[in-house]
Amino acid sequence: MGAVIAFFVAKSQLEDPIARIIVGLLVAVVLAIGAFYALYSVRCPECKLRWVWWALKTQPHSRWSHWLYEFTECPQCKHSRG
Ligand SMILES: [Zn+2]
Repeated sequence: MGAVIAFFVAKSQLEDPIARIIVGLLVAVVLAIGAFYALYSVRCPECKLRWVWWALKTQPHSRWSHWLYEFTECPQCKHSRG
């Protein structure tokens, strides 16, 4: 999908305002799908806690992504990560 967008961008060079809008919408849709995929698919194998969702809800705004990289056990059931 990213390659398709990159090809489209390179080909049109975004001179056409309609193409620019379409590319913008495509990028927004892809980002939204990716965000939802991350929210719902990254979860604890034990208790099914959605880790990304949990981090967003409970961690400070500037820290939640940092927390996702650093945490070593599930905040709910203490299941060791990996
Ligand atoms: Zn868990």
